[in-house]
Amino acid sequence: KDWEQSVQISAHPRSGSHNSVLVTGAAGFVGSHVSAALKRRGDGVVGLDCFNNYYDPSLKRARQKLLAESGVFIIEGDINDSELLKKLFDLVTFTHVMHLAAQAGVRYAMKNPNSYVHSNIAGLVSIFEACKAANPQPAIIWASSSSVYGLNTKVPFSEKDRTDNPASLYAATKKAGEEIAHTYNHIYGLSITGLRFFTVYGPWGRPDMAYFFFTKDILKGKPITVYEGPAHASVARDFTFIDDIVKGCLGSLDSAEKSTGSGGKKTGPAQLRVFNLGNTSPVQVTRLVNILEGLLKVKAKKNVLPLPRNGDVLYTHANISYAMKEFGYKPTTNLEAGLKKFVKWYLDYYSVTS
Ligand code: NAD
Repeated sequence: KDWEQSVQISAHPRSGSHNSVLVTGAAGFVGSHVSAALKRRGDGVVGLDCFNNYYDPSLKRARQKLLAESGVFIIEGDINDSELLKKLFDLVTFTHVMHLAAQAGVRYAMKNPNSYVHSNIAGLVSIFEACKAANPQPAIIWASSSSVYGLNTKVPFSEKDRTDNPASLYAATKKAGEEIAHTYNHIYGLSITGLRFFTVYGPWGRPDMAYFFFTKDILKGKPITVYEGPAHASVARDFTFIDDIVKGCLGSLDSAEKSTGSGGKKTGPAQLRVFNLGNTSPVQVTRLVNILEGLLKVKAKKNVLPLPRNGDVLYTHANISYAMKEFGYKPTTNLEAGLKKFVKWYLDYYSVTS
């Protein structure tokens, strides 16, 4: 009963013109920022997260604590728990589901392939099923990934480009998710928007990502490994600052149409969209290291190795004109400015003195 009351309070929007949003993966990096931003502007927000230990769960607990202080309650549970989802959807009429829970990372799949199938395929189906059964059905916005472009060499990547060459199991599960989204939209009239995020970074980020563990290792004086491609080509990423991604998430949510199906019956064509959310300016990883060295005032010890064939791609670069046209998406933070904010947060959070 306590649980139910917390959910209802948390889901309650500031006014009738605001939304009630279920955010899965709310204790995660992107999910915690999106939940806070939705709450700040008056939407009701309920989080759902299983707090898995893919990376330091204490970071997820710290994000949960901050969110609780701003009035966002996170239910601890798995997106595959259909009983739990049913209870939740019976309790709250969600206008939108922002589905950000997933097994992220490309290298972890070498040892834990089933975790990707569980969260990114079965979990996605479970969320779509819950939305399909709800009446009215919420509009769904979910995180796909730039990794669906795989080994494409045609850049910048645009939404119409081929996605049939995934370089990792992670990418394959996101690509499968896009196909599954197509099916649920087509058969059940669910309104579904997929967001292909490009290397998101910033405060409260993920410790498994390079900018994060480079910072940690540089400060400790530990050598970092920088990979290069064939003929010494540098690895480059379209690093996108978290605040820009949050704006893209909210913009896509606001421009999402309602589902047209009801009670599982198809009543008309519903919206099915997929957007790149990137920064349109790829930066070489060697440059990322230089910026961090400057901010931390420490010279990095570097090992340069050839890029292993374990899922990483050489280069990512988003064409964002579709998101710009549909909901005015326009990233404004360059890598220097964004990393400055990240480093400030990092030193503060871990109380490190530089
Ligand atoms: P994250 O790992 O910080 O957040 C994901 C959260 O989902 C975690 O808190 C985890 O505990 C939760 N979760 C995982 N499986 C679950 C399950 N079965 N049930 C309930 N909760 C579960 O990752 P993130 O960086 O915040 O990524 C958010 C989304 O964006 C993911 O879908 C990810 O694949 C996608 N994405 C992220 C990036 C990036 O650069 N961060 C890039 C492309 C796509």
